[in-house]
Amino acid sequence: MGNSTNRSLPLAFQGLGFGISCIDTQLMRTGLASCYLVEAGGEVAFIDCGTSNAVPLLLGVLERRAYSPEDVRYVIPTHVHLDHAGGAGALMAACPNAELVVHPRGSRHMIDPGKLEAAAIEVYGQQVFDKLYGGLLPIDPARVVEQADGSELNFNSRIFRFLDTPGHARHHFCIHDPASRGVFTGDTFGVSYPELNLGRHRFIFPPTTPTQFDPQAWNDSIDRLMELKPDRMYLTHYGCLAEPESLAPALRHAIDDYAGIATEFAQHEDRIGRLTVELLRHARNYLLDQQCGLDPDAIDALLVGDMRLNAQGLDHWLASRSP
Ligand SMILES: [Zn+2]
Repeated sequence: MGNSTNRSLPLAFQGLGFGISCIDTQLMRTGLASCYLVEAGGEVAFIDCGTSNAVPLLLGVLERRAYSPEDVRYVIPTHVHLDHAGGAGALMAACPNAELVVHPRGSRHMIDPGKLEAAAIEVYGQQVFDKLYGGLLPIDPARVVEQADGSELNFNSRIFRFLDTPGHARHHFCIHDPASRGVFTGDTFGVSYPELNLGRHRFIFPPTTPTQFDPQAWNDSIDRLMELKPDRMYLTHYGCLAEPESLAPALRHAIDDYAGIATEFAQHEDRIGRLTVELLRHARNYLLDQQCGLDPDAIDALLVGDMRLNAQGLDHWLASRSP
């Protein structure tokens, strides 16, 4: 086993049962971003796929699982943010039989990624964009399938049900997988890092990444997910979470708290800087209360990048609401 071209790459993946593997896409560090390989009837689907830089790693996992790129039937980004979909074009180029399954609001960005690339460069800057995300490849529209709210996909008798779930982004769907009584939630069911889940209660927060944060829509989307009574959620950031009903209230609270914090500091002259500080404080206080086992500096180091991005998203949200 093993292809010499892939031998040097880290292959961090974990079988979760139900024909599902969680793959670490190695974005910035181990444990930050994942995607999923789902098997059905001798074929596989990727749900989310990381950035272009992750694609060789995904192909390595396929090989380790004794699949070939020809066996990939679907590539299904939950939404078109680059940590989820940036590698879709490169992965589709490597997997000749695959169809891209995407939210109707995201499809045009996968077919012509120019606008997506420009928007990402605006948020992250050119240097970070080049290092983290690499280039984006366009996808032939003939290989793109849109899934509207409530639609189903029959993947060799494994049924995927698609739910439109705005709040984090308007081009976001979640994928209900009755076979595992689970939901692939992308960013809709928040972010929950394993190393911050060692206290009395687990830690979860909403990624309010620019530019489509919508607290009301997000709470409604969480309601819809919980109505499915899932046993587990497959988060992109990060991994499989059991007992989601115990986390949903904390996520709803955090969404409301974030909106409140944004409103409270709306008039601050360095609004993004101040919101970053306040969001970090919010997370740190909770985690220290829960005796998470990390000191404040370690907590800040893990979360500062996310919270800066969250502050940018809240800043955008405030600007979009002002008359
Ligand atoms: Zn994400």
